Amino acid sequence: MELSCKQQGKKSTAKRRLAVVVLILASSFVCVIAINYYKLIRERLNVSICNSNLKQLANGLHVYQLDLKDGENESSRHFPSFQELVEYGVLDNDTLRELEYCPKTHTKYIYVQYERAVNPDSAAARNTPVLFDSVIGCHKHRNANFFGVGTENSWTLIAFEAGQVSVVENLICFKDIYDKYAPFMSKDDAVVLRKCCEAADNK
Ligand SMILES: [Zn+2]
Repeated sequence: MELSCKQQGKKSTAKRRLAVVVLILASSFVCVIAINYYKLIRERLNVSICNSNLKQLANGLHVYQLDLKDGENESSRHFPSFQELVEYGVLDNDTLRELEYCPKTHTKYIYVQYERAVNPDSAAARNTPVLFDSVIGCHKHRNANFFGVGTENSWTLIAFEAGQVSVVENLICFKDIYDKYAPFMSKDDAVVLRKCCEAADNK
């Protein structure tokens, strides 16, 4: 049976509409994937900058300590304030302002100032937290599939006295940091860390 011109016209209009719908669906799908990847890349970039900030600050503490060892002022050996790092010429003010903030939250890192000299070579240094994100679990990490979707973990970045930076996953509160590392630390240091974590939790 032959279709009339009118019927043929209706058929091609329906086809066109279907094509438009498919095109809209496909482009929305691509858009969603692109947004997922954008978020993923931005999160990973933030982790990488945060990691680098913490490493440089921890390294600044080592440099400060080495300089003291080389020179005078042995009696003033202690964990220096960030301002002291500037005064001693370890960092300049502009660099400090960039380093002391997490790029994700724009808040200053929590700094645990122990009541002794910095000692990156001590046995406990690899388990002694000195700096960490001040918003618990602020970095969202996803093991994404092809569509950029996957289970999400919250990451808190911590720098240790030995200089390495680690990620601790899914912390509930800062006290968890104390519970995790205090068994490996000296009693005096553990007291300082506990106070610092409790103060951060109560903020
Ligand atoms: Zn951070």
